[in-house]
Amino acid sequence: MLLKGKVAIVTGGTRGIGNAIVRKFLENGAAVVLFGSRKETVEKAVKALKETNPEWSAEGMFPDLSDPQAVADAISAVKETYGKVDILVNNAGIAQSTSLYDYQPGEFDKIMDLNVKALFYTIQPAAKIMKEQGGGCILNTSSMVSISGQPSGVGYPASKFAVNGLTLSLARELAKDNIRVNAVAPGVTRTDMVAALPDEMVKAVCAGIPLGRMAEPEDIANAFLFLASDMASYVTGEVLSVDGAARA
Ligand code: NAD
Repeated sequence: MLLKGKVAIVTGGTRGIGNAIVRKFLENGAAVVLFGSRKETVEKAVKALKETNPEWSAEGMFPDLSDPQAVADAISAVKETYGKVDILVNNAGIAQSTSLYDYQPGEFDKIMDLNVKALFYTIQPAAKIMKEQGGGCILNTSSMVSISGQPSGVGYPASKFAVNGLTLSLARELAKDNIRVNAVAPGVTRTDMVAALPDEMVKAVCAGIPLGRMAEPEDIANAFLFLASDMASYVTGEVLSVDGAARA
């Protein structure tokens, strides 16, 4: 029960890594509000959580993460309902593998809008609440490609380098307000994002992972739990690799 009494918001919490984080936080006593992109998927995810454990305090919302006002309103509604916001997890994200020569107009903007700008939109109102209440914890999902880039789809590593930049800079800016800011950089993880890739490609990538397997979403969620908890009370400005020592 590392998060007993804590209130957490998790974006992209309906499936994959985000959903594993939501479950891990609930198992550890937090009240969780997951943000998803659509009403139907949010309702389905919350129903599945309640079926797992009717005692869990789980709720869903679906603010448009490209709309700063909608995001601020949703975060302020969480504060109204629960009295505080202790933990914000910015996990929603999309990937790209398009070759530079084939990028379509708007494609680069699309990934920056969700993977980078939406973080700014959630962090600003959440940090104001955290400052007022005396502290908090902000966690961002980065990627192993934020360290070495990737061979095509430059928008994705560029967005994750920006996630690291936000993390390191805001850790320094917000430390005086007792707000810790960290990121987790997962390696290849078994989610829909990876299921969309050709089998052969996934096999080849996994063959190069020293631990000999891809990550399960729970492997990644465990790192989020550690960073969200008081066990990490002196950890801020860290990008924690959870990648089986894979180096892209
Ligand atoms: P996923 O596709 O299973 O989940 C992505 C989540 O983001 C979903 O909950 C989805 O609803 C949400 N989302 C997508 N578009 C959205 C939008 N426009 N508005 C709001 N929410 C939106 O993928 P995942 O692997 O669980 O990815 C989660 C995070 O982990 C992402 O930030 C991704 O970049 C990162 N990541 C994944 C891997 C991997 O191998 N799976 C590796 C490194 C980093």
